[in-house]
Amino acid sequence: MTDAPASPLKLFNSLTRSLEPFEPVHPGEARVYSCGPTVYNYQHIGNMRAYVFGDTLGRTLSYKGYKLTHVINITDVGHLTSDADAGDDKMEKAAAAQGKSAWDIAAFYQADFETDLARLNIRDKQHPRATEYVEAMIQWGKSIADKHCYELDGGLYFDTATVPDYGRLARHGTDEGESRIDPVDGKRALADFAIWRKTPAGETRQMEWDSPWGRGAPGWHLECSVMSEALLGFPFDIHTGGIDHREIHHPNEIAQNQAHSCSPDSGARIWMHNNFLVDRSGKMSKSSGEFLRLQLLIDKGYHPLAYRLMCLQAHYRSELEFSWDGLGAALTRLKRLVMAAAPARDAEPAEPTDRRLVDLLAKFDAAMSDDLNTPVALTLLEETAAMKKIDAGQKHAALAAMDAVLGLNLLTIARADLRVRPKTATIGEDEIEATLARRKDARAAKDFAASDALRDELVAAGVEVMDGDPLGWDWQPSAN
Ligand code: AMP
Ligand code: ZN
Repeated sequence: MTDAPASPLKLFNSLTRSLEPFEPVHPGEARVYSCGPTVYNYQHIGNMRAYVFGDTLGRTLSYKGYKLTHVINITDVGHLTSDADAGDDKMEKAAAAQGKSAWDIAAFYQADFETDLARLNIRDKQHPRATEYVEAMIQWGKSIADKHCYELDGGLYFDTATVPDYGRLARHGTDEGESRIDPVDGKRALADFAIWRKTPAGETRQMEWDSPWGRGAPGWHLECSVMSEALLGFPFDIHTGGIDHREIHHPNEIAQNQAHSCSPDSGARIWMHNNFLVDRSGKMSKSSGEFLRLQLLIDKGYHPLAYRLMCLQAHYRSELEFSWDGLGAALTRLKRLVMAAAPARDAEPAEPTDRRLVDLLAKFDAAMSDDLNTPVALTLLEETAAMKKIDAGQKHAALAAMDAVLGLNLLTIARADLRVRPKTATIGEDEIEATLARRKDARAAKDFAASDALRDELVAAGVEVMDGDPLGWDWQPSAN
């Protein structure tokens, strides 16, 4: 695009609870850190909403012309079953339950997470592991121990009274955040948190290291301060995470950053938080045994990009309720988009000069610049895809520019790719097509009994026959 995007990018900063212009620390660059998963289990689709949001932010920054560095850390040590300092280490607990080493557990679930990132068309990022930064965490701990920490039997604790304005991000003190912290004997304040957790006497952990405060493991909050500084510098531009992190994890990161830098600087210019994906029972959680994974959606016959589109339909700061009907509607919307874009797909891209396209691109730019207004951006993408009597090359270029931001692969995906065979289907595509052909012949011969029998055969195999479907599909997997 030669037309420079016109609207200045504004993002909602949780720290000030207001929209702020994006002004990079390093001119021309954008450095983003997204709190990554704890790899003791599969990710649920709520977690994946956090990364679709982070990716949409990253894509928008790239589209605005910034050179992007984006990190998602992998928490493979230190995260306790409570977000604060109580309970077991999630990794060690999973390892014991599955009879594997904590390192194997981490490698397995990291690989699964990366598969889901790719399925959702989340662009490549750096995925550094916390265990690779333990030495740096110990050094960081040493730099703040004297002025900001105290030792208890359990390890080294951060004294939150030693930094200005603790909890400004969460605005807690009165908030629900504190109710999630379990008390630890000897802590000076409920909000104080572990920098280092000593292995209890007589026990050995699979993951433990020597430190000035005894053999043990780092506290969970420390890794993000250390890794973001190591990989992105101090301060960097944008720190993201789910809204739960606004209450405990990020205030603790900020406290560590202030202590380490001997300044009131929070460490990131903008802190952004996505709201939750919920289901009818409330927030999704992994602790409840069965939970919704991207793989389950695929097994039921939904293309993963339908889930990406479902996320984009809501603003990232709004709660989003998951339902199978909602996912089905998102899949239909994606099919329509892919079909509408198809005629422009093979055209040689040409600079959009047509007034209508130029206007749509400007509106798209304004929507994304307004704190990533993806619901509006999607409708503009649809309007562009639906345009008739327009130069195909110009249309191709406009769609490509928008899709680079929304990541739906509109110009590369084929209609047939969106038809995912559910795991329970007992019949292959060739057989479906052959049965449909026989049914067509039966109908042509007015043998409706035979035609109905063939339809029933397909229904029994998990295939819905779609006569007269407005999108022109002959069949689809019957969901659920
Ligand atoms: P965790 O592995 O629990 O540290 O979570 C990884 C990321 O997913 C964090 O940014 C969380 O804030 C985010 N997250 C957790 N649950 C949800 C949910 N239901 N909806 C959206 N984001 C979530
Ligand atoms: Zn983090």
